[in-house]
Amino acid sequence: MTFASLGLIDPLLRTLEALAYHEPTPVQKQAIPAVLAGRDLMAAAQTGTGKTAGFALPILHRLTMAGTVAPQSVRCLVLVPTRELAEQVYDSFRTYGRNVPLRYFVAYGGVPIEPQVNKLRKGLDVLVATPGRLLDLLRQEAIRFESLQTLVLDEADRMLDLGFSHDLDLLFMAMPKPRQTLLFSATFSDAIRSMAKGLLNNPVEIQV
Ligand code: AMP
Repeated sequence: MTFASLGLIDPLLRTLEALAYHEPTPVQKQAIPAVLAGRDLMAAAQTGTGKTAGFALPILHRLTMAGTVAPQSVRCLVLVPTRELAEQVYDSFRTYGRNVPLRYFVAYGGVPIEPQVNKLRKGLDVLVATPGRLLDLLRQEAIRFESLQTLVLDEADRMLDLGFSHDLDLLFMAMPKPRQTLLFSATFSDAIRSMAKGLLNNPVEIQV
């Protein structure tokens, strides 16, 4: 199986060729067609499996194929537990998305919020954020969720371990339905399963 046979658009295929990604990894083989088809996803995948490209590539494909950004709005939101992971995932979107005309940004706490508020003004295709800072931005009315199409929860188990459960609930309440939701977690505890039940609609399940 090749990335081309998964139906990804040419600008993404060119990037993958330049990166010397010759074949999709097992999680990518399962995740890419499901996300392209608009399905929800529940994936048990560790770091190192290629899970980031597994969600970033089909999201970039769909964002490029349709729609534009309204001021202060965001079309795809990726929630992550830590600033380190936020930077990594943001870098991945910029790398995989370098041949498509989309706007990306990353926002986490512990740094001034004003530059983030300014950056959000024009609107974004993809925002990678930690839950606490995203909630602050929402409360300051710096961001609107009306145009949110896709929500990704990356390392969901770590977000719960770090005590983000309440922040996440407040964020979910502010998000529109229907939307596409992708949940990645290394482990599936009862807490994750119950969160998934409230968030996911008939998800494709992936184990790698
Ligand atoms: P991740 O699990 O998303 O943290 O990715 C692990 C590493 O695998 C990253 O350094 C990626 O650049 C690399 N990678 C992801 N997909 C592929 C692929 N299909 N072929 C080769 N390397 C890949």
